[in-house]
Amino acid sequence: MPSVTINYDICRGAKECGECEKNCPMEVFEIDGEKVVVAHEEECTGCGVCEDVCPTGAVKVKFD
Ligand code: SF4
Ligand code: SF4
Repeated sequence: MPSVTINYDICRGAKECGECEKNCPMEVFEIDGEKVVVAHEEECTGCGVCEDVCPTGAVKVKFD
C-alpha cells in the first residue's frame, strides 16, 4: 500500500493551495483548519495526481 506524506515546511496550506485535496480521486486528504491532512491513506491507489498538482513538491507518495 502506498504511503502519503506532506512536508509542512513547504506545503502552502489549505487556503492558499489545497490542490492535493481538490484533485485526489480517492479523497485521501481532508482540510483541518488551515492544513491539508492525510486522512484516508488506506484509500490511496498510488495514482500520483497529488504529486503532479502540488506546486511545491510537499506531497510524496511512496511504495514499500
Ligand atoms: S496518489 Fe492518487 S489516490 Fe493517492 S493520495 Fe495522491 S492523488 Fe490520492
Ligand atoms: S498540493 Fe502541495 S502545497 Fe498544496 S496543499 Fe497539497 S501538499 Fe500543500
